[in-house]
Amino acid sequence: MSSNRSAALNLFQSRPKTVKERDNRKITSYYAENVFTQDKLRAYLSNDAYKVYNQTIADGKKISRELADQIAAALKAWAMEKGTTHYTHWFQPLTGTTAEKHDSFFTLSSNGAAVEKFDGDALVQQEPDASSFPSGGLRATFEARGYTAWDPMSPAFIMDIAGSKTLCIPTVFISYTGDALDHKAPLIRSLEALDKAATGVARYFDRFVNKVNATLGWEQEYFLIDKAMYYARPDLMASGRTVFGRSPAKGQQLEDHYFGAIPERVFNYMVDLEMECHKLGIPVRTRHNEVAPSQFELAPMFEEANIAVDHNSLLMDLMDRVARRHNLIVLLHEKPFAGINGSGKHNNWSMSTDTGTNLLGPGKTPRNNLQFLTFFINTIKAVHDHADLLRAAIAAESNDYRLGANEAPPAIISVFIGEYLTKALDAIEIRVENDLKEEAENDLKLDIHKMIPDVMMDNTDRNRTSPFAFTGNKFEFRAVGSSANCADAMMVLNTIVASQLNDFKTKVDKHIAEGEKKDSAILKELRTCIQTSKNILFEGDNYSDAWAEEAKKRGLPNIKTTPQALDALTTKKAHHLFGDLNIMTEREQEARHEIYLEKYIKKVEIEASLIQELAINQILPACIKAQTDLIHNIQSAQNAGIGKNMMTAQQHILQKISESIHAAHQGILTMEKEREKANQMKSTREVAVHLCDHVKPHFLEIRNHIDELELYVEDKLWPIPKYREILFNR
Ligand code: ADP
Ligand code: MG
Repeated sequence: MSSNRSAALNLFQSRPKTVKERDNRKITSYYAENVFTQDKLRAYLSNDAYKVYNQTIADGKKISRELADQIAAALKAWAMEKGTTHYTHWFQPLTGTTAEKHDSFFTLSSNGAAVEKFDGDALVQQEPDASSFPSGGLRATFEARGYTAWDPMSPAFIMDIAGSKTLCIPTVFISYTGDALDHKAPLIRSLEALDKAATGVARYFDRFVNKVNATLGWEQEYFLIDKAMYYARPDLMASGRTVFGRSPAKGQQLEDHYFGAIPERVFNYMVDLEMECHKLGIPVRTRHNEVAPSQFELAPMFEEANIAVDHNSLLMDLMDRVARRHNLIVLLHEKPFAGINGSGKHNNWSMSTDTGTNLLGPGKTPRNNLQFLTFFINTIKAVHDHADLLRAAIAAESNDYRLGANEAPPAIISVFIGEYLTKALDAIEIRVENDLKEEAENDLKLDIHKMIPDVMMDNTDRNRTSPFAFTGNKFEFRAVGSSANCADAMMVLNTIVASQLNDFKTKVDKHIAEGEKKDSAILKELRTCIQTSKNILFEGDNYSDAWAEEAKKRGLPNIKTTPQALDALTTKKAHHLFGDLNIMTEREQEARHEIYLEKYIKKVEIEASLIQELAINQILPACIKAQTDLIHNIQSAQNAGIGKNMMTAQQHILQKISESIHAAHQGILTMEKEREKANQMKSTREVAVHLCDHVKPHFLEIRNHIDELELYVEDKLWPIPKYREILFNR
């Protein structure tokens, strides 16, 4: 067997399978111990300063430099007590990972004495060497600098890596001119816009509402494989997915993995990971196997969306780090293995008031239900009007392999609401003007509380194939990719719902100004929303071809690839939407579009190079060796006087191998020609589209030949670990 593959298998076999001693303390005894929580802030800050802090946050004002100094001192005191030596501004650039640059508290004072220093300046703003982060031309055009700026809404935390502790301060990353260079800045702006819009509407129902938070509970799917297997697969290392690999005889057909017993080695990893999460205040609660072999999921309690986004980004780092400690590797790619399920990151989203109401939770009384219906229907309308933006928000080279594959939501955005709510919406829609007035006057006989029984909360009325499903008291955006930063999807959702709610309120207020009763005005507008958005509702099987047909008839877009999907970012409609709500300027949107296209191009280029290299210098040589062996065998047989009719197996295998070697090689040559053409093109979009339409299709074509070779070439000659070795080894 090839030395790499057999070394990997041997290493894997020799892994200790026993558990190290577990720390069985109660979770509550260490939960958030590495987070600078409100409680700690209060303990380390003077009473006066704490009061000022609370007032500043409540008023949504900027934290003064003086207060920042006091908070920095409190942070430093707490962090140093815990043995922290360094601090970093922690941010989420558009590269797709988190970034940090560590500075030591230690410095020399003017007289040369060694001191530990951390003040308001260091807390509030830093200037990382940002030239290598993507900026889509923003910094280049204006100023070569980027800044990280403290986000006081997300608590600082201590990262403990191999006993060395660093204080991490969540920040946004912006250019000198204030343009957003990260995922978080637009997200925060969208949360503010949603707060304002939703508070306005929520006050129709409860005048004590002063703030509305978006809530997010993500569910993170991932694959976990042995580290040795990973290092023996150059494709996994470079692109996060296997570019070759024949489906094993036993795939997921038997569906025996889902919710099955968690293998011990994986279990150890999960326990370790959860402890790290809990210390960092990430409220992880559930863990289970997923559908595919070696696929798993974890999910936390939902949180305020900004914090939930930070927690998910932090989690993705932690997962990688903890897995390596266990000689495992986490694969966050949306489709690491062909022929079995890919991974997503369901984003459960809702809105909640400072009075404690979940605005997407159906109530027990008709009044509450009108509130519920208002937010529910406005969300549907927003998704209907801006489905293209939601599609763009989940667009990524890696997610293209998953969306529309037969286990993932298709690239068609539709909304599932279940049988009961469909009936409820129908009921409102068919009511005429007089009905609505009467309804409102007679204290709302909407009866919807009867139509949304508890069964709604049950799994039975759930459609698992929908990209955007209502699941009882929240919407679940399921088309988000497992490797994505949740911020983009959430930013778009917040923005479109904010815009829709603003529009809704303007219209309702107008009816009221014209003398209409409030409830009747609301119902009337809701009816209009239903009428103009119901073609986005779909209750059937989203994976079926029939739905693709039906969606086409309804005029719903089915944008299958990233370069096309990203066009939505630069339409006039998008410019207005994001501009009007101060989420992003036209320039920021254009920059983002450029960055995402560049990212797409890089990813495709990497995979193309990889396919070429892996095929030419590892796989094909092994196949040629097999070919030579067969030729020798056939020649020897001839010399020994064995008739041709006794050599059909060898002939057949030789034929298959020769054909596939030839075809794979031809595929590579054509792919390389197309790549050269792409290089000649001028605009980023042209390059991306060419790579998408003329280079990527060869990936699959080449793969099919190589996978065929995997069947015909003697097992021990095959140079890289096979699917069965990567996926089923425990
Ligand atoms: P599932 O059947 O999809 O696993 P769960 O009830 O377990 O459903 O919830 C999945 C996720 O939804 C969890 O992260 C949970 O915290 C989150 N969630 C529940 N309620 C809300 C809400 N109001 N807003 C946002 N997320 C929520
Ligand atoms: Mg779910």
